[in-house]
Amino acid sequence: VTTLHRATAPPTEAERVKWRIGDVTVTRLVEQVLVWDGRMILPDAEPARLSGMSWLFPHFVDEKGRMKLNIQAFVVEAGSVKILVDTCVGNLKEGRALPEWNNLQTRFLTDMEEEGFAADDIDFVLCTHLHSDHVGWNTKLVDGVWRPTFPKARYLMDRTEFEYWRDQRERAQGAIVFADSVQPVFEAGLIDLVGSDHEVCEGVRLAPTPGHTPGHVSVFIESKGEAAIITGDFIHHPCQLSHPEWGSPSDIAHEQAVRTRETAFRNLSGKKVLMIGTHFSGPTAGYVREGEGAYYLSI
Ligand SMILES: [Zn+2]
Repeated sequence: VTTLHRATAPPTEAERVKWRIGDVTVTRLVEQVLVWDGRMILPDAEPARLSGMSWLFPHFVDEKGRMKLNIQAFVVEAGSVKILVDTCVGNLKEGRALPEWNNLQTRFLTDMEEEGFAADDIDFVLCTHLHSDHVGWNTKLVDGVWRPTFPKARYLMDRTEFEYWRDQRERAQGAIVFADSVQPVFEAGLIDLVGSDHEVCEGVRLAPTPGHTPGHVSVFIESKGEAAIITGDFIHHPCQLSHPEWGSPSDIAHEQAVRTRETAFRNLSGKKVLMIGTHFSGPTAGYVREGEGAYYLSI
């Protein structure tokens, strides 16, 4: 039996995090801090196996060997441009595969404002892929109707990704998510369909990382000789650095997802490229390093 435990405490002050990459600033916005009992995300990541990976403790695995995973977004500020990367689960959504994600009422928008980002400040909303925990705040419920939460933004989505979910609408879950979190934005004329290597602005571009979903993209940041990558879900949890072959049941193309991870880890290993994990808990970011024949995250 798989159970999702909601952490009793909200994100603490210590969990307010910003990173600087050259002239670019990335701010983390945590929607939910979760501990996963069971292996619905990564069936291979059994507590006994995670216990043997000491570098995961205490930030990424709790004392019972359960995976910690945040649901979070990032605001990337490059010059005057503000980009919101992924939009979490959102409030008052229904019909989600995880019942715990139905009818959420979090402080996400308020927290975002307290961090200095009003909804109207956002220039671009960028979805790494169109799963429910990455598109939720694309829309909010206003008088019973789903409206774009960021009406002054252009919403960027990979063309392949958009068309996949638009055309797979007989899949109940995908159809529900598309209908309440993507379609209203499309109908408002706010979506730009882009290529998987699209340059958003100077210093920020997409990088194709397919497998988890067909048009999955990551976000590559480069400024003044420094670099970072916001992963999206090509990796869910740092334990996959040591085991790139550990896939998620939600990976649509397993073999491709494994190849994407292996290639990315090889390319990032030993480099001064900060890996910002979209679902990574605790410090959320680190550098890919290799030791004893396996990769790990150095924080
Ligand atoms: Zn996700």
